[in-house]
Amino acid sequence: MNILTARNLHKSFAGIRAVDGVNLKVKAGQTVSIIGPNGSGKTTTLNLLTGVIRPDSGDVTVNGQKLIARRPEEVAHAGILRTFQNGRVFGNLSVEHNIEIGAHITLTAYRPFKNFAGNPWLSWLPSIAELLITLFPRKKVKAEHQELYQRIGQEIDRFSQRLSPRREHLAYTLSYANRRRTEIARSLIASPKILVLDEPTAGMNQSETAEMTQQLLELKKRGQAILLVEPKLDLVMTLSDWIYVMDG
Ligand code: ADP
Ligand code: MG
Repeated sequence: MNILTARNLHKSFAGIRAVDGVNLKVKAGQTVSIIGPNGSGKTTTLNLLTGVIRPDSGDVTVNGQKLIARRPEEVAHAGILRTFQNGRVFGNLSVEHNIEIGAHITLTAYRPFKNFAGNPWLSWLPSIAELLITLFPRKKVKAEHQELYQRIGQEIDRFSQRLSPRREHLAYTLSYANRRRTEIARSLIASPKILVLDEPTAGMNQSETAEMTQQLLELKKRGQAILLVEPKLDLVMTLSDWIYVMDG
């Protein structure tokens, strides 16, 4: 079954046709890669799929639901979670707090009104509720929080020797490689339907890249669907069930 389907996506920037008729599918459990030279539109394609920018035309569906015209957080709720080519951790938050942010969309006791977030009249309600719950947490909320901290620990342990000793370090003090690991953990904690990775091994040396390859293979073995943009072809060939090539 296709989890993600993109049909005939187009996007131009001031006359540059960055994405020109992209069709793409990701099936459950598959690793699908996009390769191509610099500037061929790989990142733009991921931005279109994750709601960061809107296409000029074309559509995207997740499990049959249309995603175009949705905000990035709604795309995240639909289960498409990503990392960024240039790394986007919150520099003045610790590793565990960065990962905790990724878990926010999964909370239920803490977010009783989360379905109102997209409502134009009542979008303030979830924030007020969360503020009140933070000040006066109920038992259920405390339990959810405790369980969350266990899950954060599990995600950090996935990158054990790298992140475990740095659990409380502020993200701006981390190496680029560890920022990337933190970003991946931030996505994984929300159990994505598809994990979208834009050059996850950028800035990593050979042994770090080999380690990341193993970690991604582990995820794949567990049935995690992955959409990957990555210039290191060894990694692409090792992981991918399907490869799209962009050019021009
Ligand atoms: P890749 O990830 O394959 O290296 P990109 O998708 O980043 O390529 O870029 C494709 C083309 O679109 C490039 O020519 C790039 O300069 C241009 N581009 C991407 N994003 C923007 C933007 N926000 N504004 C203007 N041009 C952009
Ligand atoms: Mg790119």
